[in-house]
Amino acid sequence: MLHGWGGTAPSRAHVVHPGTLEELAAVVADAGPRGVLVRGAGRSYGDAAQNGGGTVLDLSAFSSVRVLDDGDVVAGAGAVLAHLVPVLLRRGRFLPVTPGTRYVTVGGAVAADVHGKNHHVDSSFGAHVRRLDLLTADGTLRRLCRDGSPAEQRLLDATLGGMGLTGAVTEVQFGTVPAPTASILVDTHRADDLDTVMALMAEGDDRHRYSVAWVDGTVAGARLGRGVVTFGDHAPEGDGDPRHRTPPPGEPRVGVPPLPVSPLHRHAVAAFNEAWFRRAPRRRIAEPTPLAPFFYPLDAVGGWNRLYGPSGFLQYQFAVPDSGAAMVRRTLEQLRALRVPAYLTVLKRFGPGRDASPLSFPMAGWTLAVDVPARDAALARALDRLDEQVLEAGGRLYLAKDSRAVPATIAAGYPQLDRFRAVRRDVDPDGVFVSDLARRLDL
Ligand SMILES: Cc1cc2nc3c(=O)[nH]c(=O)nc-3n(C[C@H](O)[C@H](O)[C@H](O)COP(=O)(O)OP(=O)(O)OC[C@H]3O[C@@H](n4cnc5c(N)ncnc54)[C@H](O)[C@@H]3O)c2cc1C
Repeated sequence: MLHGWGGTAPSRAHVVHPGTLEELAAVVADAGPRGVLVRGAGRSYGDAAQNGGGTVLDLSAFSSVRVLDDGDVVAGAGAVLAHLVPVLLRRGRFLPVTPGTRYVTVGGAVAADVHGKNHHVDSSFGAHVRRLDLLTADGTLRRLCRDGSPAEQRLLDATLGGMGLTGAVTEVQFGTVPAPTASILVDTHRADDLDTVMALMAEGDDRHRYSVAWVDGTVAGARLGRGVVTFGDHAPEGDGDPRHRTPPPGEPRVGVPPLPVSPLHRHAVAAFNEAWFRRAPRRRIAEPTPLAPFFYPLDAVGGWNRLYGPSGFLQYQFAVPDSGAAMVRRTLEQLRALRVPAYLTVLKRFGPGRDASPLSFPMAGWTLAVDVPARDAALARALDRLDEQVLEAGGRLYLAKDSRAVPATIAAGYPQLDRFRAVRRDVDPDGVFVSDLARRLDL
């Protein structure tokens, strides 16, 4: 049985662990009527890495990592970012883009075209991919390069953000960024209302490589959306704290502590948000901070995704252009009215999207991500209404987080979906590569 990070909609599949390209090609050639799909580390929230009734490929054996003299990385698609980070830091480099957890694979980062706290400066992961090797449904291993033929480039672009539906990525070459130390110089601003949070972010973007805000959607009135804005930049040689070393990859250090009341009780959620807000300094500038807690605060807490109990949870994440900025407040208001137990609500700025990739999520403007429990009928209806408003605002939902949208919502949010379908039909006319997400959303 496989499920996503949110624990919803599990489905049963036959999981295969090919050790070589030949074995991988043989499994793809043998795919039955329910097809085949690669699964990375299962960190997508919904059903993207599932293929109920079919075959699921685990490419953990494809995990070699090489750093070239110019700082590029050549990595097997099954390599986990947590293993890459120390290797890169030893050479004074860092990942060009990293999501909020380092326990994802290179293949998963490519397939979701993941974004980080630096989207406004460095775009999404796909922007840094120089070439990738893709095993397609006909058993061919194709090397897709930035300067390849137009057909190769179309397939490359569709694969970046293509949620595993164009084939199995086996190896990726991508660029890295300089990181002279393992420290980030962090500016922290605690802001008492949402307008201040958003103004600080819009204004600080130009000056910092990384920016993110945690906002509190649980307080009422004028303080709704108060938050902690953090900006960061790699510390230059001499400015970092020499004691900062990225912790070695491994198991998280602490688990979710036992709580005196149910973690879903509104008092527990409100107390958590209050403590998180108060813990932050009102204003602190250029504080050398170890890299791991800055980029991956949640990785230190094992099993937090079990907070929501057996019915699981989902993450509601949308992007809207600047003209739709009001959706941020509207979403917080509507979820607060329903007393949604929202622990960590994250707001980021996006720079321009990568239009060449039809299913890539980011677009210039804002993105908000809220964890919400699954299987609550009133909440489900509220999210459906929010979907409509996100679309009216010119926005879209993130496929890597989704487990509940309907096909029309995705088609409206991704106007280039037909272009994606055309590439997919060309490369895989029989739909050999398929997922629960693709079936649900008619991708
Ligand atoms: C705590 C947390 C924080 C997160 N923060 C962010 C964030 O800040 N930004 C962001 O963009 N995302 C974020 N995510 C989402 C996560 O980065 C993506 O879902 C990512 O795709 C997960 O990678 P994975 O290796 O676990 O892939 P899986 O979840 O296993 O698979 C995701 C998709 O990738 C495909 N895939 C995986 N490997 C391959 C391959 N070799 N070839 C072809 N297709 C493949 C799968 O078929 C599936 O469609 C976060 C997730 C968590 C749990």
